[in-house]
This record gives sequence, structure tokens and C-alpha cells, in this order.
Amino acid sequence: MTEKQTHAFATSQTATKLLGGRPDCPFMPVFGAPQVMFERGQGTQLWDVNGKRYLDFLCGIAVTSLGHSHPVIAAAIAHQANTLLHVSNFFSNPVATQTAIMVDKLVSESFGVKNAGQVFFCNSGAEANEAGIKLARKFGGRGKHVVVSALGSFHGRTLAALAATGQPEKHEPFAPMPEGFRHVVFNDIKSLEASLDASVAAVLLETVQGEGGVIPASVEYLQAVRKLCTERGILMMIDEVQTGFARTGKWFGFEHADIKPDVVMLAKAMGNGMPIGALWATKEVASVFKPGDHGSTFSGTAIATAAARATIQLMIDMDAPAVVQQKGEELSAKLRTISSVIEVRGRGLLLAAELKPELDAKKVATQLLDLGLVVNGVTSHALRFAPPFTVSSAEIDEAIEIMKVVL
Ligand SMILES: *Cc1c(COP(=O)(O)O)cnc(C)c1O
Repeated sequence: MTEKQTHAFATSQTATKLLGGRPDCPFMPVFGAPQVMFERGQGTQLWDVNGKRYLDFLCGIAVTSLGHSHPVIAAAIAHQANTLLHVSNFFSNPVATQTAIMVDKLVSESFGVKNAGQVFFCNSGAEANEAGIKLARKFGGRGKHVVVSALGSFHGRTLAALAATGQPEKHEPFAPMPEGFRHVVFNDIKSLEASLDASVAAVLLETVQGEGGVIPASVEYLQAVRKLCTERGILMMIDEVQTGFARTGKWFGFEHADIKPDVVMLAKAMGNGMPIGALWATKEVASVFKPGDHGSTFSGTAIATAAARATIQLMIDMDAPAVVQQKGEELSAKLRTISSVIEVRGRGLLLAAELKPELDAKKVATQLLDLGLVVNGVTSHALRFAPPFTVSSAEIDEAIEIMKVVL
């Protein structure tokens, strides 16, 4: 345990007390030094264990899209906790059933079809991708199992999701990686075309590379990928784990390109912080799964689906895509007034501010945190912004003021 890792704990008396005299950090060191220990949140605001207030413009990486401690979601969780938490998948429960119908309706209607698909619930984004990769392999059949994804992509940390992730340096310590993954240049249709052969079952893409630096896929690229996949009988799988549920100003990122994917992965914002993910596939594709092919103890568990049902219903009621479009424009316009910001990119409320090359984004993010603004350095020179859809203009102004002080 390095000294640095214990830093956030050591500087806080409350945190020290929490550790009960333990001198070091109780967490495995996979996450680096925790910078702050947060105790509670309300809307866009967070408070740490010392009572210091912060503005949360990251939302646990695009997770708490309706803000912290949303009263309706909190009540839905409390009600479900007092009604039924969990039954096994030998059985069903009303709330999972209703949530599956809602998710299918949102995805299907986003390309103008009713009731086009089926849903498998899981607990995270990585699991949604794992399930999708298994589905693609079963759909492709023996010898047609390769999943092609993009360099710079992020699909999760479990072994197959990591193999799909187009960041070789993340593979290296865990070699040998599972077989059957190929990476191509993002936004380059020629690179994709050159990688396709009879062994390819599916193409897996993000519509905005979130972890890769908030890089949108171009509309022309996504449309060309769709055409190529259809011509070659290859599944087009879209990882909407970060972009889904209105984050980009449409319900799903693929809507910006007006395309119909075969498979969609969802998670992050789905439960506003309750761990839940989903795999959606057209009925034709989903039908290759037979009982026993896949599963999860917590698939469709009542407590998680209750949070998702409440979250999705609130998003529908507020017309989340329209709200995000408007607030995204406001935030990006205000970010552009900061002289050290040389570019603002992204979609909706998933934005990156590219800083002047002499500025180190990680250092800037730490300085912003000290002044009470939570963002993250997504690349060495870019800050990522993913505030809640409920963010107010006054809160955006406050965040911009903090940035002007630091920059
Ligand atoms: C975060 C993320 C994942 C992984 O989700 P986990 O819930 O952390 O497993 C997968 N794909 C994308 C695009 C993500 O942003």
C-alpha cells in the first residue's frame, strides 16, 4: 500500500475513524488513490465526509443521470425492498417483466418498430457485453465466432469484454487473451471492411467512445457499418453502456445515425446508480439462445429492476432526450467561453473539453476537485463532463466559474 493511496483517508478524521485504526486502505489497489470520500448527495451536489460541498459533473461516469438521492427512485427502491427483493429465475416477478417491456419499447420504437426484441438483464456493462459476445457466437455458429471492435474502444474489464476492448496495453498483463477478437481503426470503414471474412460473427461498436476520450462515431461511418453488416450477414452490436438512456440527447446514440442495430448493450444510467445492465437483441437473434445458454443469479432481480423502472419512467416523463439536447448545448457553449479550452466535442451531456496542450488534464481535474467540481481527465489533455440531466443553469455557471479560476 503506497503512502499516496492512503492519502484521502489520512487527511480526514472521519475517514480515519471509519477505518477503525486500520493504517492502510481496505480496497484492492485496482482503482488508484481514492481522492475523496463522499458521504451523501442531492441532485447535482455531493458532500464529502468533512462536509465539503462539490458539484458532480461526472455522475459516477454517466450513471446518476437524474441526480443523487432522487426522491421518486429512492421511494421505488424502498417500496420494493419492503415488497420483494429477489426470486430465482425459475420464476418471474412483475417489476422485471414491466421493465423488460419498457426497455424493448424504447429500443424498438427508436427505429420505429413495435415490440421488436427481447431483453436479458444483468448487473453491469461488462456483463451485457459478455452476454452479447456469447449471443454473437451462438448466432454465427462454429467457425463464425470473431467479434470485430474498434481501437480505442472500451467494453469492460471481464476477460472477454476486455478482449473486445481495443486497448492492447490493458490486455498485456493478462495474456493470453480469449481467442476470436479483432480490432480496427475507429471511424474508418476501409479498415473494418479489410478485417471482415467468413469467421466474423459480429461488429461491436460504441456510438461515442467514452473512455477513449469522448470521440463520436461519424454518422456516415455508422451507416456504412450497418450496410456492410447487412450485406455480409454480420451482426451489428452497439455498446450503449455509456451513451444509452438519453445521455447523448437521443434515447440511444445510434439514433443520431438513424440505424437499426441487431444487438444493444445497456447499463450505467439504467438504474440511476442501482447496479443493472441489459442486453437487447432482435427476436430473431435472441431466439438462438436456449435455456441454459446464459444466465445470472441476479438477472431481473426485483430491487434492481424497480430502480430501473422508476428511472426510465422519470426519463420518459421529463422527455430526457429534449432536456439533454438543450442543456448539452448550453454547457458546450459555456465551455467554449473558457480561453484554455481549444475544442469541445461529444454529444448531448457527454462532452469533452480539449485543453491547451501544455495543460495536464489529470492535474487540472485534481485542482477542480479541490475547488469543488467533480469531472475527470479522460485523456492527457481532455476533461470529460457528464452532469445530471437535472443540472440547473446556475450550477452550470458555477462549474464554469470554478474552471475559470483553475485555468
Ligand atoms: C463503462 C462501460 C462498460 C463497462 O461497464 P461496467 O458496468 O463497468 O462493467 C462497457 N462499455 C462501455 C461503453 C462503458 O462505458
